[in-house]
Amino acid sequence: MSEEKSFHMTSKAFRYYGRAVVDWIADYFDRVESFPVLSQVKPGQIRASLPPAPPLEGERFESILEDVETGIIPGVTHWQSPNFFAFFPANTSGPAILGELLSAGLGVQGMLWATSPACTELETHVLDWLVDMLGLPPKFKSDGTGGGVIQDTASSATLCALLAARERASNYESNNRGCDGRLVAYASTQAHSSIEKAVKIAGLGRQNLRLIEEDDRFALRAEVLANQIQQDRAAGFIPCFVCATVGTTSSNAIDPVTEIGQICREQGLWLHVDAAMSGTAALCPEYRYIHAGIDMADSYCFNPHKWMFTTFDCDCFYVAEREALINTLSVLPEYLRNKASESGAVIDYRDWHIPLGRRFRSLKLWFVIRHYGMEGLRYHIRKHVDLAQNLAKWVEDDHRFELAAPAPLNLVCFRHLAGDEFNRKLMDHLNRSGEIYLTHTTLKERFALRFCVGQTHTEKRHVYQAWKRIQEVALELEKS
Ligand SMILES: *Cc1c(COP(=O)(O)O)cnc(C)c1O
Repeated sequence: MSEEKSFHMTSKAFRYYGRAVVDWIADYFDRVESFPVLSQVKPGQIRASLPPAPPLEGERFESILEDVETGIIPGVTHWQSPNFFAFFPANTSGPAILGELLSAGLGVQGMLWATSPACTELETHVLDWLVDMLGLPPKFKSDGTGGGVIQDTASSATLCALLAARERASNYESNNRGCDGRLVAYASTQAHSSIEKAVKIAGLGRQNLRLIEEDDRFALRAEVLANQIQQDRAAGFIPCFVCATVGTTSSNAIDPVTEIGQICREQGLWLHVDAAMSGTAALCPEYRYIHAGIDMADSYCFNPHKWMFTTFDCDCFYVAEREALINTLSVLPEYLRNKASESGAVIDYRDWHIPLGRRFRSLKLWFVIRHYGMEGLRYHIRKHVDLAQNLAKWVEDDHRFELAAPAPLNLVCFRHLAGDEFNRKLMDHLNRSGEIYLTHTTLKERFALRFCVGQTHTEKRHVYQAWKRIQEVALELEKS
């Protein structure tokens, strides 16, 4: 067989460099603590180090990998550092990375069952597993009227839930006629900004999102919600959607889903529960209380890509009535409204989210669940919660500091008593040192530091040393 000219990487070279990249990643994890957690580059610095034009001729793979080290790593903020306590975790793990690699290698598009049956069936199966793993209501399983799907992010899941709510409330006609400006959605003042984005994209309009006042634990006040719905109905609006949050981004507050659910049932509103980070805690039976009332939800999502060791992107989105979602997003009604789809015999996931194409994302989730097992996952989640609870105690024991919100799980919000300006300085000093990275929020108009424990390799010593540094830097600032 004569060899035709080719620029492709040979199978031999792929084996060789593939191993080199896996080695590189393993080495990276071994030395990740040596980097400043928060990248210290200036705006434009990384681009300025790159050649202005792309190469005319292909380059050696070695030199590409070298440039990662010299040109890219300085501009990386190390989310995989055990000293990363900012925002929320985006933790990854060996099995997740290898599942991701396999998905890239197979390179399938799973938009229809027929375009790669395993891509659809493994996803359905693993998402059904997760219903049991988290103790979610069985109605979210695929063998009833509901089912789960992997979305890229919680933002997309919320948008899909809102679109389905909008259509259900308007007899599946708002798509055809446009929103008439009367549909209204509700969430607490503490809900994630993705709700506002969804309301804008879905055409309800920002002015038709009602942000309901929070209580002193930063949870939505159900009686205020009920009143607002009454007022809106009286004014001629059409309430259609409520988003309750289990573990808000700002302070980890848990909305009263049971009370909210009862209101939604009485009023015929779609209830979506956003548990993007904290849902993972329900792997442990002792934390399942966070989901109380979830049996009244029409949809639910959580992100294994935050706190379940599964490489971004991976959000698990569940609906109780898949028909509402499919009717909303299906683009070829004649083709899709077949008996097989509606009975659950065949799922075409392209009608469960916004994009058409989809990767084989369930592989990494399957790898993670099989590698750790339920006990392994629970062990690490419990450990993270314990570490955060230790920190909360240390904060309470230091008379210069106070907790800024209850800390039910793995997020601790706290502040030094010297005021907003002092706390801002404290955070900036710590982050510029590169030793740890933490972020902030405002609670009742006061600045608060957020310390979130959830990185794969965070151990007791990391949290302990971080607290020591926080105390030391505070002391230096007090003196200056
Ligand atoms: C992180 C987070 C989000 C956004 O998650 P994405 O997957 O990045 O869209 C939404 N809601 C809550 C409660 C979160 O913690």
